[in-house]
Amino acid sequence: MITLQGKGVSAGIAIGLLSFFERSSFVVEKKLISDTAGEIQRFYDAKKTAADQLDELANTMAEKIGKENALLFEIHRMMLEDSDYIDPIIKMIETEWVCAEYAVLECGKQLARDFAEMDDGYMRERAADVDDVSKRVIAILSGSQQSLAGGSGPVILASDDFSPSETAQFDRASVIALAAQRGAANSHTAIFARTMGIPAVIGLGASLAPGLGGKQVALDGETGVLYVEPDSETMALLEKKRDRLREERRELEQFRGKPTLTKDGRRIKLFANIGSVTDVEATLASDAEGIGLFRSEFLYLGREDYPSEDIQYESYRKVVEEMKGKQVIIRTLDIGADKQVDYFHLPTEENPAMGMRAIRICLTRPQLFVTQLRAIYRASAHGNAAIMFPMISDLEELRQAKRIADQVRESLAAEKIPFNPETPIGIMIETPASAVISDLLAKESDFFSIGTNDLTQYTLAVDRQNESIREFCDVHHEAILRLIRMTVENAHNAGIWVGICGMLGADPDLTKTFIEMGLDELSVEPSYILSLRRRIAEI
Ligand code: PEP
Ligand code: MG
Repeated sequence: MITLQGKGVSAGIAIGLLSFFERSSFVVEKKLISDTAGEIQRFYDAKKTAADQLDELANTMAEKIGKENALLFEIHRMMLEDSDYIDPIIKMIETEWVCAEYAVLECGKQLARDFAEMDDGYMRERAADVDDVSKRVIAILSGSQQSLAGGSGPVILASDDFSPSETAQFDRASVIALAAQRGAANSHTAIFARTMGIPAVIGLGASLAPGLGGKQVALDGETGVLYVEPDSETMALLEKKRDRLREERRELEQFRGKPTLTKDGRRIKLFANIGSVTDVEATLASDAEGIGLFRSEFLYLGREDYPSEDIQYESYRKVVEEMKGKQVIIRTLDIGADKQVDYFHLPTEENPAMGMRAIRICLTRPQLFVTQLRAIYRASAHGNAAIMFPMISDLEELRQAKRIADQVRESLAAEKIPFNPETPIGIMIETPASAVISDLLAKESDFFSIGTNDLTQYTLAVDRQNESIREFCDVHHEAILRLIRMTVENAHNAGIWVGICGMLGADPDLTKTFIEMGLDELSVEPSYILSLRRRIAEI
C-alpha cells in the first residue's frame, strides 16, 4: 500500500480504479493504405484487445465496488460487437482505402450523431458511450497509453490539475472522485466536486504519477489521503467511515422539505450554485430553495465556438423550467482569469485575474453580451429568472451593462418575443471597490451577491489558484468580514436583499456571524444545503 497526502476539498470516501485524465485529444490522420485486408485485420485485433480490457475492467469493478458500477463496461463491450458499429468501419476501409484509426473515428462520430438525435433519452446518452468505445479502439490502434488507464467508466479521475473547461467535459456518470497533483481549495476543480457531491483531494504532488493508472485506490476527501492498493485493514476502516458518513447524511434528511429558519424564526434563503444544466438534478436532490449562482460561462467552456442565442436560451429555459418557479440567478459570462476559451482569442496577460475578464469582456464585446442577455430574457418567460453581473467595480460599468439590458428588452418587445420585463438585475460584490461603493451600487441594483472567492483574492492580494501562498490567505480575515458587513448595511439601507455565493457562505464557523450581520441568502454547492440548514437552525 502507498499512502499519498494531499488536501481534502470535498468530503466523502471513494473506492475504485484510478484513471489518468487523457488531456491531448487524438490527432487522427487520414492515411491511405493499400492492403485493405491487413487493415481490417488490424481493426479486428484492436477490437479484441478492447474487449479484453473491458472484460477485465468490468470484472474488477464488479468485484471491488459492486455490479452496478460494472454495467457501463458491459454496455461498451456489447457496442463493440454490434454490427451497426463494426460494418460501417469495415466498409469504409474497403471502399475508401483509409487507415483503421480514421475509419473508427469517422464511423464512430456518425453513429454517435445518430444516437444523439434519437427521441429516447436513454439512447441519446449512448452517444457518449460510442465516443468512449471509439477512443479506446483508436488508442489501441495508435499504441497510446490511454486505454490502459481505464479511461472510461466509474473511476477516480486523476490529473496534474483539472481546468474548468475540462471539468465541463467530464462524463459525470463515470467520475466517482477526483485526485489532483496541484489545485487550490477555491479552484473550480474543488467547486465542481462539491457541486457533484463527489469526494476530491488536491495537492497530492508528483507522487500521483500516471504509472498508478489502473490501480485500485481509496480516497478520503476529508483527510485528503489517497491510498494506492489499500491493505485489508485500511479498507475495513474506510468502509466503516463511509458507512458513518452515509449515516450522517441520513440524519440530515430530517431537514429536507423544511424551511430554513434560525431558532428564533428568521428565514434565510438557502440557494445552490450550479455550473450547468445537468447540475439542476443535484440541486433538486439537495432541496435547495433556488439557484443563487448559475455560472453561465461553463456553457462557453469545452466548445469550439460561441454558443448561439438559441443554444443558450434552451439551457437557461431548461434550468428555470426544471426549478419550477424557484428563483434562478443567472450570472452573465465570467470568462477570463482561470477560465480561458481559445475561440475568445483573449490577449495573453501577465495577470489574467486582474485583466480582461467577466463584465469587462462583455462591455468591450457588446454583441456577445447582447446574445447572452437575449437568451436569458427569453428564458425569463418560462420561470423565475434573475440576471447578475460579475466583477463590477464601478458605477458606470453597472449603468453601461444595464443600458445594454434596456436595449435588449426594447428589441425583444419590438420583435414581440415574450420575456419578463421585471426580471431582477443584481450584481456580484467581488472586488473591494464594489464593496466600498456598495452604497452607490445598491441604489441601482435589485440585489447583491457577495463573491467571497474573488473578494478574498483581491482584498488580501492572494491568487486563489496559487496553493503555495495558502498560508497568506486567512479566509476569516477581518478585512473581508468588514467588507461583507459594510455591503450588508448598504444593501439594507437601500432596501435590497444581499447574499453570499462564494465558498465562505458554506463555512459553518461563520454562519452565526453572517446571520448576525443580517445576510438574507446563502448560496452554496448543493452538497452543503442540508448541513447548512441544520447549522442555521441551531442559531
Ligand atoms: C466568487 O468569486 O466568490 C464567485 C462565487 O465566483 P467564481 O468562484 O465563479 O469566481
Ligand atoms: Mg468570482
